Amino acid sequence: MSSRKFKTEVADLLHLIIHSLYSNKEIFLRELISNASDAIDKLRYLSLTDEKLKGFSFNPRIDISFTEDGERTLTISDNGIGMNEDDLNDNLGTIASSGTRKFLASLTEDQKKDSNLIGQFGVGFYSAFMVAKKITVISRKAGEDDAWKWESDGESSYSIEKAERNEQGSTIILTLNEEGEEFANRWQLETLIKKYSDNIAYPIYLAYDQVHYDNEKKDENGNAVKTTEHKVEQINSASALWKRPKSSIKDEEYKEFYKNSFYDSDDPLFYIHTQAEGTNEYTTLFYIPAKAPFDMYYADYRPGVKLYVKRVYITDDDKDLLPVYLRFVRGIIDSEDLPLNVSREILQENRVMVSIRNASVKKLLGEFKKISENNPELYSKFIAEYNRPLKEGLYSDYSNRETLMELVRFKSSTEDGYVSLKDYKSRMKEGQKAIYYISGGKEEVLRTSPLVAAYREKGYEVLIMGDDIDDIVISQIGEYDKTPLKAINKAGALDDLKSDDDKAKEEAKKPVAEKIKAALGERVKDVVISSRLTDTPAAVIFSDDDPSMQMQRLMKQMGGEMPDIKPMLEINPDSPVIAKIEKSSDDEFVKSLSSVILDQALIQEGVMPSNPAEFAANLTKLLS
Ligand code: ADP
Repeated sequence: MSSRKFKTEVADLLHLIIHSLYSNKEIFLRELISNASDAIDKLRYLSLTDEKLKGFSFNPRIDISFTEDGERTLTISDNGIGMNEDDLNDNLGTIASSGTRKFLASLTEDQKKDSNLIGQFGVGFYSAFMVAKKITVISRKAGEDDAWKWESDGESSYSIEKAERNEQGSTIILTLNEEGEEFANRWQLETLIKKYSDNIAYPIYLAYDQVHYDNEKKDENGNAVKTTEHKVEQINSASALWKRPKSSIKDEEYKEFYKNSFYDSDDPLFYIHTQAEGTNEYTTLFYIPAKAPFDMYYADYRPGVKLYVKRVYITDDDKDLLPVYLRFVRGIIDSEDLPLNVSREILQENRVMVSIRNASVKKLLGEFKKISENNPELYSKFIAEYNRPLKEGLYSDYSNRETLMELVRFKSSTEDGYVSLKDYKSRMKEGQKAIYYISGGKEEVLRTSPLVAAYREKGYEVLIMGDDIDDIVISQIGEYDKTPLKAINKAGALDDLKSDDDKAKEEAKKPVAEKIKAALGERVKDVVISSRLTDTPAAVIFSDDDPSMQMQRLMKQMGGEMPDIKPMLEINPDSPVIAKIEKSSDDEFVKSLSSVILDQALIQEGVMPSNPAEFAANLTKLLS
């Protein structure tokens, strides 16, 4: 037997791990199972590629057992690649990864106490010293005859000597310390295996003794007879579905996996499976639920994406895996390149993670776009649930705005259901210079706006932006495919519909506009004439730099201070009601009628007159 000192860096690492990861000591099991799974991965690979090991056949498995009586132990055994004497020295006597070594060397004493920092590299095997006072590894390398025993108390040295082992692989025996005793327990182990390692591709068996007390049979002292049955049970489902070749996975399997993993009784609308190779190797499997998650609009919504590293579960509670507006997406991200112990703080800035995230967003949006082009029926189901979060994306995700503009949908004055900006553009009349829209109220109200009627009469389609988020979104769009978007209820849009005749008429009617403006006084910003209106005497509009009614309401709801913004009144010069004002010299009458016209225009925009009693009084006066 030879006894050797750990390289000082290992001693440092051990110290660090034991002190900083302490609150999370259960992760040692995940690390050991992950190592076992890696060892099997390696042997499987070599049995396919290596001259010496080609054709080597074995039944991959991981076995876990424990002793509850006397000295508590926990054993994790695999039949993977195994280690010979040199491997044991290199792998368990030094820190294998040079990156880890450099990182460790760069830490100051203060940083070493920071458990977030330590999460940046894989702590692996050594984390078992949090729960063990002694670790024994018995290992035999595939293709070799000798087996070796490595043993250490995790203080400063380890020993290596010859040992016996029937087949290739490694057995890790933890002699548990006080902190670790709780892990020599069937339920604890079962829970942890399910929690962290359910998707490890190889079966994980747990061996335990089941004790029965038979009350029918008594021993000589009158106690129930105790029988012990030894059981071995597979704990994980051993199906990292997303790692299998796409062509081998049936539609049904994808759906079952979704329903089991994300607790949904309905099939998903669709799913997107990506297996990326190259500099950054990762797999993503995303699902779009048929119904928007109930908490989609709660501030404390549950994120829907789980992170795995090499099939080992890391977290399902990280809101930064995808941007907030994609919070309805369910699924998994499995990276081959992230360290197992990556912490949340580090994830956000981790180069690998950032690139997976960006690629995932592009992939999702690209896929949505394909569906919008190839499967309108499916897309309309999707839009019915997720139009609004996509609109959020328009103002939060600048880098994907172009795509998002193609994805969002709006209601229209001429079409049923939702339309895209692209479709709108393809239907534009010859010479039409802008995409017209109306916003600032509920859909039903906007639809009946006299302005919309005026545009329809002239053959123009108007987008009905009745979603309360639309006003914010529209300010982000500005133009689509070089065509500006223009609000028809803002002063700037007026001119588009005017002919020279109209302009002459407006000029002639200026005095009546002045008369009404004088009568309304402080209540309006301005009164303008327009030939757009057909049936109604007037409509309210807002000047370009003022927020719309809807925006004002929204800002008030959010608790913001909002000065009362005065509307502009647009009057129809052909209306007989306006003509009455023109002809009248009764100041009182002009005042009442102007006031009723304004209030009525406001009501058409869904706004209560500021003084309903006065409105009623004026109306009565006029009627009589
Ligand atoms: P990591 O797994 O992140 O490389 P560990 O400290 O967990 O770091 O393990 C160090 C090395 O020891 C591994 O890279 C591997 O080569 C070897 N090793 C650990 N466990 C096993 C095992 N069960 N079978 C074979 N090799 C192992």
